[in-house]
Amino acid sequence: ATMLEVTGLTHRYGGADSDHLAVNELTFSVETGQLACIVGPSGCGKSTLLRCISGLIRPSGGEVKLHGDRVDGVPEDLAVVFQDYSRSLFPWLSVRQNVEFPLRWKKLSRTERRQRAEEALEWVGLPGVGGKYPWQLSGGMQQRVSIARALARRPALLLMDEPFASVDAQTRFELEDLLRGVQVQNHSTVLLVTHDIDESVYLGDRVLVLSKSPASIVADLTVNLPAE
Ligand code: ADP
Ligand code: ADP
Repeated sequence: ATMLEVTGLTHRYGGADSDHLAVNELTFSVETGQLACIVGPSGCGKSTLLRCISGLIRPSGGEVKLHGDRVDGVPEDLAVVFQDYSRSLFPWLSVRQNVEFPLRWKKLSRTERRQRAEEALEWVGLPGVGGKYPWQLSGGMQQRVSIARALARRPALLLMDEPFASVDAQTRFELEDLLRGVQVQNHSTVLLVTHDIDESVYLGDRVLVLSKSPASIVADLTVNLPAE
């Protein structure tokens, strides 16, 4: 089944008459269970594309559909992980409270929320740190917590904007493998944006290559993983 359908997506900053075209006529779709990477140079329009998909900005033209429904506003069953983990966690909340925070809007009991948070922290290799505060953790661990918080919601689509660009290389490798493992295990659908071609090919089932600004697709590659 198709999870995400982007059709003729165009975005100009500064209104319809502006000539600041950031995204130009993008059309692609992502199947359920896929880990799709979008790769392109800095400034080509990747973040703009993700903002349009996540409903944070309304595109100037074209359409985004999430399992068949037109995205209008911020969809409930979508989670986003950003590059800047240092600003994404609430410093006054413990790790557990951070991970549980977005679950408040789901109809879950306290126990269920607690269980989901613990499970997500285990997925990202951080069991037992729930009582700590973000500032007590390294940058890589904080990004693990951000990923756990997104996964705890069990989103239909997980969007990731350069999620490993601000961590050191060793941590990046660990987080890439961890994301891959969790994604395969849970059949999650992930759309990850990066400027790093190696990363996109290492991680993706699918790699969409964008041109320089304004973003348009120049290649759509399927990466065939050997059967396990
Ligand atoms: P990327 O994520 O690939 O680095 P962006 O989507 O951030 O690219 O930026 C694409 C283009 O849109 C760039 O020319 C950038 O300067 C411009 N841009 C990004 N955000 C804004 C904004 N809020 N207002 C105006 N222009 C923006
Ligand atoms: P090993 O055989 O011990 O896994 P590798 O050199 O193959 O050693 O990889 C070490 C780590 O680097 C791997 O766990 C993997 O996460 C990461 N890695 C390897 N190749 C890439 C790549 N092209 N892009 C990103 N990460 C990679």
